[in-house]
Amino acid sequence: MTEARRNKLHKKISIDLAKRVKGLPPYLFAAIDKMKQEALKKGIDVIDLSIGDPDIPTPKHIVQRMKKAVENPAHHRYPSYEGMLSFRQAVADWYKRRFNVKLDPKTEVLSLIGSKEGIGHIPLAFINPGDVVLVPSPGYPVYPVATLFADGKSHIMPLIEKNKYLPDLKAIPNDVLKKAKLMFINYPNNPTSAVADRNFYKSVIEFAAKNNILVCHDAAYSEVYYDGKKPMSFLQIPGAKDVGIEFHSLSKTYNMTGWRIGFAAGNANALAGLGKIKTNLDSGIFQAVQEAGIEALNTGEPVLEKIRDTYQERRDILYNGLKNLGLKVQKPRATFYLWAKVPKGFNSSGFVAHLLENAGVLGTPGNGFGAPGEGYIRFALTVPAKRMKEAVQRIGKAI
Ligand SMILES: *Cc1c(COP(=O)(O)O)cnc(C)c1O
Repeated sequence: MTEARRNKLHKKISIDLAKRVKGLPPYLFAAIDKMKQEALKKGIDVIDLSIGDPDIPTPKHIVQRMKKAVENPAHHRYPSYEGMLSFRQAVADWYKRRFNVKLDPKTEVLSLIGSKEGIGHIPLAFINPGDVVLVPSPGYPVYPVATLFADGKSHIMPLIEKNKYLPDLKAIPNDVLKKAKLMFINYPNNPTSAVADRNFYKSVIEFAAKNNILVCHDAAYSEVYYDGKKPMSFLQIPGAKDVGIEFHSLSKTYNMTGWRIGFAAGNANALAGLGKIKTNLDSGIFQAVQEAGIEALNTGEPVLEKIRDTYQERRDILYNGLKNLGLKVQKPRATFYLWAKVPKGFNSSGFVAHLLENAGVLGTPGNGFGAPGEGYIRFALTVPAKRMKEAVQRIGKAI
């Protein structure tokens, strides 16, 4: 059938994208992937340090548990909305062991289909049109986009070196505070690799209580740390549960990005609100994945230490390498990212393009995480040490 005849038979409709979709910036990593594909076409051997997706497989004991769980017909049915109680209990036990924080698994833990899912949905539960969400920038792009989807307005909290990449809460204007209902923070931080201390969390709790703002702390990298220095949980600070929740992910801790499992913990009312959205949109996590999640949360220290050692070796190669080349870099205490200033004469995207063309090394432009990231580049520690050494050598020749 010809196109013309088909058109005669079925009138084509023209559907315009919704404003909220039209208003979206192009997805950062789609643009980067396009650059990568073009470089590959030219025959460049690309060392990809752009995306934070672990290259190390999920530990074997977790895969084994999944294999068994898949055979259980009980898991083939719809899961419970809030997550299996046994998974939420495993989360509560993990919190007690790791942070000495007590959680009620029934009301203070909510299972998520990856933490991105919960972060993306939480504004729908609490934001009315015109309400303000406080958003760190540079930051995880989902915070402003989730705000946009809920018809909220993002107020940018710049993360800059001078303030150790912590937001300056005193700099937020009063008229913004009056409309602010929710705030995102994220430590250990993507993309700057900064870590927050007890005093910062204390000031956030005080600020949130005074201004009636729900704190959403994204702690996806709490277990990817170096030199044995464990980052703390926001919920360790007295009063935290009164004002907020903490998002965790099994993705980065156990190299499980593809499995889609995470959770939120803390304030029961906030979790109930998020749960209401989820009940109406999704039907929970495949129970076999939740069983594997229980196994993951009970992973022994030696397995986790090995993963951390792998990242630490790569961190040391890249950090020392770039420093010796004269670049200004932040030594990460956590996360698998390295945040570096681009050399004089370049902006973020210019330097990313220069490195790709002249070194075959792909980083992420800092401004892709928000305007205050301009002048920086982010490297992910997600290639083996040998490739990382080669990346350093090639960058040396290119700059
Ligand atoms: C990777 C990442 C997440 C999301 O991880 P999930 O796979 O969805 O659990 C959330 N926040 C930050 C800052 C991340 O880098």
